[in-house]
Amino acid sequence: MNILIVEDEDRIASFIRRGLEGEGFTTRVEADGRAGLDAALTGAFDLVVLDLALPELSGEEVLAGIREREPALPVIVLSAKDAISDRVSNLQAGADDYLVKPFSFAELLARIQARLRSAEPVRRTTLRAGAMEVDAEAAVALVEGREVELSRHDVGILEALIAARGHAIPAGALQRRVWGAEPSGDPSVVDAYVDALSRRLGDGVIEAVGDGYRIA
Ligand code: CA
Repeated sequence: MNILIVEDEDRIASFIRRGLEGEGFTTRVEADGRAGLDAALTGAFDLVVLDLALPELSGEEVLAGIREREPALPVIVLSAKDAISDRVSNLQAGADDYLVKPFSFAELLARIQARLRSAEPVRRTTLRAGAMEVDAEAAVALVEGREVELSRHDVGILEALIAARGHAIPAGALQRRVWGAEPSGDPSVVDAYVDALSRRLGDGVIEAVGDGYRIA
């Protein structure tokens, strides 16, 4: 995998380059927006890491140029700005992800790997139950317009309960479904987990029934 790094600060560019090369990626660094955009449009790269404050062309201009000519090329934007409005406007302008400086290399690597995975065709799964919508891919539930972030286990629990269409699933069966074939440990761990999830989703979404749970 070939990654283009567009960053004018030597220290940050070489921190990213060394880290990525250590992970087996090939990289190229461009230190201004014009050279960065030209490189991005060569078709030689699988992903672009793009700083916003750049000489020649701004990161926003580079992003716009990439989106015009290479709409599918994943772009992860780096910026010192951390206002939510900046994040939103960058994502709307076509960045696939956004990282605020200072960031750890592990965090950048995780975002890059996630982007490279999702650049392949993925099944997009939105599940609905009553007033709740679950985006399994993004691990977010929307309950009456309110966003609730979900863990991988939360998503598994909701997938199982929604698939059961209002029928109760015993805690032990839920544990096998979500945590694997062998129920390890005490089912009360599942109870505690579902209870915490249920409280975050709000009243009346998950109902406890006997020794199990169902979607209300
Ligand atoms: Ca910069």
